[in-house]
Amino acid sequence: MSTNLRYNAGDFAYGTWRLLDDATQPTPEELAARFELCLELGIDVLDTAEIYGLYAVEAAIGGALKAAPELKDKLRIVTKAGINIPSEEKGVGVNQYNATSENIVTCVEKSLRLMGIEQLDLFLVHRPDWLTHPEDTAAGLTKLIESGKAKHVGVSNYTIHQFATLDKLMGGTLATNQVEFSPLCMDPIYDGTFDQCLQGKVRAMAWSPLAGGRIFDPADEAGSRLLKKLKNLSPAYGDAPVDALVYAWLLACPAKPTIVLGSNKPERIKSGVAGGSIELSREDWYGIWEAAKGHGIP
Ligand code: NAP
Repeated sequence: MSTNLRYNAGDFAYGTWRLLDDATQPTPEELAARFELCLELGIDVLDTAEIYGLYAVEAAIGGALKAAPELKDKLRIVTKAGINIPSEEKGVGVNQYNATSENIVTCVEKSLRLMGIEQLDLFLVHRPDWLTHPEDTAAGLTKLIESGKAKHVGVSNYTIHQFATLDKLMGGTLATNQVEFSPLCMDPIYDGTFDQCLQGKVRAMAWSPLAGGRIFDPADEAGSRLLKKLKNLSPAYGDAPVDALVYAWLLACPAKPTIVLGSNKPERIKSGVAGGSIELSREDWYGIWEAAKGHGIP
């Protein structure tokens, strides 16, 4: 991995999309304990977004940081904005993207308020907005940096061309492109995303690394094939859990994307990060590729 990266979130970041999804809602103290566990495991980047939990997750993070204010200095907080669902407060009637300068700045100010922090470590445009000129988006990102509201800025779910266009306007400073990547969604190794990252010293971030849990769904054919293969490989890697093997598979790519881990279970977070030190053989990496695709390489 290059040492001159524009931004390095580490091998793992902790994702909070599903933070409030379990039947029993976590207390602020429980969330704080989970973030503390992440820190103990060497994960200091917390990934969230305005829209997570239908606009409720950032406030829950704020509650945890209020319960344990010392975490504010230890965690690097990443948030995203630009996806709007119908909301009277926002005057939005249909689902839409909004990457205008005005929306970016307004959303970040709200995120800082909800989480009770002064500065984001990283702000990401959540998805490309086809109606906003990249110059307008760039103006908003620049305002965030100049005002100190965000230390770094980047994007998520951008195509290589969208990334290149905005990156040029930002003087080559976009910190990352957070994209979906798992054995069941291999787009970034085909569509040039990872090569663009390597070229620009950008460390990508990989969301839904376990395909959102599809790997564990017996009704999912590709997931079932993959799960069987991973279970067969486990003894050769010290009985590593399947999630750790998947993380090792993702990190084996030369672009070494930061894995945005999404489990709410402390024991899974703990056993999963062990994948960071597993070195899969070439034979097994391609074996996992084959199991995921259901056919051999072309
Ligand atoms: P994921 O790791 O692919 O999926 C997590 C899901 O898998 C959870 O429901 C988890 O349940 C389940 N799971 C994990 N291990 C399991 C096991 N051994 N058996 C059964 N189920 C298991 O990640 P994700 O949550 O989809 O995404 C991770 C993060 O990426 C999000 O939190 C968010 O921060 C980010 N993200 C970004 C975007 C974007 O557009 N930029 C989009 C989606 C997500 P438990 O909680 O019960 O373990």
